[in-house]
Amino acid sequence: MTTAQDNRVNLLDFDVQAMTDWFAAQGEKPFRARQVLRWIHRFGETDFEAMTDVAKSLRAKLQGSACIVPPNPIRDSISTDGTRKWLFDVGNANAVESVFIPETNRGTLCISSQAGCALDCSFCSTGKQGFNRNLSAAEIIGQLWMANRLLGAVKPGADEAGERIISNVVMMGMGEPLANFDNVVSALNLMLDDHAYGLSRRRVTVSTSGIVPAMDRLRDACPVALAVSLHAPNDALRDVLVPINKKYPLVELMAACRRYLERAPRDFITFEYVMLDGVNDQDEHARQLVALTRDVPCKFNLIPFNPFPNSGYERSPAPRIKRFAQILIDAGIVTTTRKTRGDDVDAACGQLAGQVVDKTRRTTRTTIPLTEVRS
Ligand code: SAH
Ligand code: SF4
Repeated sequence: MTTAQDNRVNLLDFDVQAMTDWFAAQGEKPFRARQVLRWIHRFGETDFEAMTDVAKSLRAKLQGSACIVPPNPIRDSISTDGTRKWLFDVGNANAVESVFIPETNRGTLCISSQAGCALDCSFCSTGKQGFNRNLSAAEIIGQLWMANRLLGAVKPGADEAGERIISNVVMMGMGEPLANFDNVVSALNLMLDDHAYGLSRRRVTVSTSGIVPAMDRLRDACPVALAVSLHAPNDALRDVLVPINKKYPLVELMAACRRYLERAPRDFITFEYVMLDGVNDQDEHARQLVALTRDVPCKFNLIPFNPFPNSGYERSPAPRIKRFAQILIDAGIVTTTRKTRGDDVDAACGQLAGQVVDKTRRTTRTTIPLTEVRS
C-alpha cells in the first residue's frame, strides 16, 4: 500500500520477508530490514530519524521512499469494566473497530480484517452492513500497533519496549479473516515474529465461519489457534444462520478441522456457538453437537447473542444456556460461556458495527459521516 498523499511505500504493510525483499531491492542487507522492523513494531516508531542504529544515509533514503502510516483512530471509548474500544477510519467513510479486554493474567486485543463482511450471517451486525473492502496488512497490524501505543505499551523515542500489555490477539472483530487471506497472513507473521510482536502461536487466534479451502491454506502458511463459528448442529439450520455452509457443509467443515489439528499449535479447535432464543438452543441441538463433533477434539465457547436493532433474534435466557452447556459438559466437552464485556460501549461480540459503505447494497442503512475526527 502507498499513502494517498504520495507514492512512498507504507512499511506497516510488510512482514519480515516482504521487508527483507524490499530492502534487498534497494541494495540493503537483510539485517537492516530487521532493524527497521524492530523500530516500527517493538518501539512504535514512525520517524526514521529516531532510528539511531540505522545508518544516516539509509535513514535519508527511507525518508524519501517509505513511510509508517497506521490507521487513524477516530473514537476511543472506555467501558466501566476496563474494556476499551477504538474506531479506526479506513477511508471513504468506512470505519472498523478493535477492542482491548484486560483480564487478570492476560490482555486480549480483538481486531478486524475487513470493512464489512460479505458472508451475511443472519445474526451478525457486521454481516448486515454488507461488504466494502478488505483491509490492507497495514490496516490490520496497524490496529495492534496503535493499541500498543494508546495503551502505553510502547513509547516512541524510547528504544526499549515497555511492559507487554497485549498478550493475546483474536481475529474476531469485523470481517471474515480467511476471506482476506494474504493480508491476514502478513499481519499474523508480524504478530508472531520476534523482531515485531513475538506473540506465541497459541495466543493468536483466527476465527472463521468455515471457509474450508482457506482453513487448509492457513494450516500450511501460518498455523495459529483456530476458532470456528459453528452456531448450528445440522446443515438445515446452519444454511440459514451461516450461509457459507451451503458451499462448505458440516461434513466438510469437520474434516477440515481434523486436518487443521495436524499442524495446529493447540490440540483442540474452539467452536463458537451463538445462543439464539428458540432457534439453536434446545437440548436436542446440544445432543446433535455432541454427535457432530465426536471425532474433532474441541472446546465450546457459548456466546450469548448480542442484540442489535432489527436483528429479529433474542438472546437465550441464562438458565437455557446453562442447561445447554451442561449437556456438552456431561458428554466430556470443555464448555465455557462468554462473559459479555464492554456492553456499555457496544464492544461485545457481534456489536462491532463500525461504519461501512455497503458496496453490496445489502441494506439501505445510511452511513454516518465521520465527524468525530480527533487529531
Ligand atoms: N468472521 C469471523 C470472525 C468475526 S465474528 C467469524 O464469523 O468467525 C466473531 C464471532 O462473533 C463469531 O463467532 C460470530 O459468529 C460471532 N457473532 C457475530 N454476531 C454476533 C452477535 N450479534 N452476538 C454474538 N455473537 C456474534
Ligand atoms: Fe462475517 Fe463472521 Fe459476521 Fe458471519 S459472523 S457475517 S462471517 S463477520
